[in-house]
Amino acid sequence: MPNLVRCLLESAQRHPERPALRLGTATVTYAGLDESSARVAALLRSLGVTPGDRVALMLPNVPEFVTLYYGILRAGGVVVPMNPLLKEREARYHLEDSGAALLFVRHDGAAEAVRGAAAAGTRVVGVEPAAFAALLDGHEPLSEPVAAEDDAVAVILYTSGTTGRPKGAALTHGGLAHNAEVSATSVQQLTCEDVILGCLPLFHTFGQTCAMNAAVHSGAALTLLPRFAAGAVLDAIAGDRVTVFAGVPTMYGALLHDPAAPGADVSSLRLCVSGGASLPVELLHDFERTFGCVILEGYGLSETSPVVTFNHPDRPRRAGSVGTPIRDVEVRLLGEDGMAVPPGAVGELVVRGPNLMQGYWRRPEETREAVPDGWLRTGDLARQDEDGSYSIVDRKKDLIIRGGYNVYPREIEELLHEHPDVVQAAVLGVPDERLGEEVVAAVVLRPGATTGAADLRTYVKQRLAPYKYPRHVWLLDALPLGPTGKILKRAITAPRP
Ligand code: AMP
Repeated sequence: MPNLVRCLLESAQRHPERPALRLGTATVTYAGLDESSARVAALLRSLGVTPGDRVALMLPNVPEFVTLYYGILRAGGVVVPMNPLLKEREARYHLEDSGAALLFVRHDGAAEAVRGAAAAGTRVVGVEPAAFAALLDGHEPLSEPVAAEDDAVAVILYTSGTTGRPKGAALTHGGLAHNAEVSATSVQQLTCEDVILGCLPLFHTFGQTCAMNAAVHSGAALTLLPRFAAGAVLDAIAGDRVTVFAGVPTMYGALLHDPAAPGADVSSLRLCVSGGASLPVELLHDFERTFGCVILEGYGLSETSPVVTFNHPDRPRRAGSVGTPIRDVEVRLLGEDGMAVPPGAVGELVVRGPNLMQGYWRRPEETREAVPDGWLRTGDLARQDEDGSYSIVDRKKDLIIRGGYNVYPREIEELLHEHPDVVQAAVLGVPDERLGEEVVAAVVLRPGATTGAADLRTYVKQRLAPYKYPRHVWLLDALPLGPTGKILKRAITAPRP
């Protein structure tokens, strides 16, 4: 099996002077990344880190994230990436749960994390660029990386999974490297000439594997953006001649509706990759028309390192579908009775393959529940289409049961996206005494749109079965988004009257 550290060593050997990372005008070459990560490994040694120790990273998308990530792996440590926006309680929970010995953090704005670390008994190391570079310079690069077994834990990613509070998905060296390799080769077909835009947070599985690790695997350049902003993305694409963009659907929507979109120079782009949530078909078509670049959609989750299925570039692209399983990964759809459903029917998607997590960190019971028989229960409902590709119907927990009828929010969201005034749409269930649940659509309209809530209700009513149309339409200025830009349905509340 491939191995992430070996991928870095090979890229550094093959293309030492090629750019590995860019942030603004600063560039780190592959030789530079190799050397600085070897110095990190030496620093960790000097701080007492031994193989298997957990080391947390709480950083935005900056070069030091990548240096530390690979440095921790070189030292045989386990990386625990954390969202830099976590508050004290959350930081403490992640650090205590993972048993992290060290936390690398930018002190500016990280007072909460530092307090959380103090409470968890985790030692804090500051990552201010100049001081951190000086700290590394004081350590001779560790010459030999620690050899890691394929099935050893490399990274612990905190995720809510399908239920409950955050759990650490313990991902293995072999699983992560396999997914990075497949993502780089058969999915994105990367070469060392590619420039990938890294605006998805690197602490999350999507950006980590599909942007960072795939880039390092291929010797490609990774242009880092500390946070997503449509204008900055368009500027970076033009300025750095970006060839591959990976993002979640709300990012595609924001790029499409940005005032700078019509005049933007995106001629360098050859591929866009979407994942993390379903990409509305109308948005896909509008984006492709405006920017002249294909979007290929994939599906995955933190527990599977993450890619499970993808619209492979050598097969006809199916808008609205997440494609077929990647190499070595198997997918099945199970009904309520735990038996496989026939083609065309909806079932829970379960996955087996080398990319599967070893388990939830120190949670054998939750691991058994999620992976009772070697197959991961994803909590996602899907259907297999006639051509063998899969479509995600919805998440099991987002399914609305209204008066005994199943309503899949995605179907209504797709239709709302076809309305010319709708920019974003999320459909959810709210408690209802008579029917159990009632259907609500939360919608963001294009600036200046005159469509009203009643118009949208009628629009859906005329096009779908009577039990499906939203009885309430909430017109909102914005929808709440999670750290990767996914819509957080549970945080949506009714507009003030
Ligand atoms: P995370 O672990 O944060 O990456 O979230 C994984 C979840 O995102 C999956 O279980 C799905 O519910 C959702 N997801 C990922 N990709 C897609 C997709 N292409 N279409 C629909 N849902 C997706």
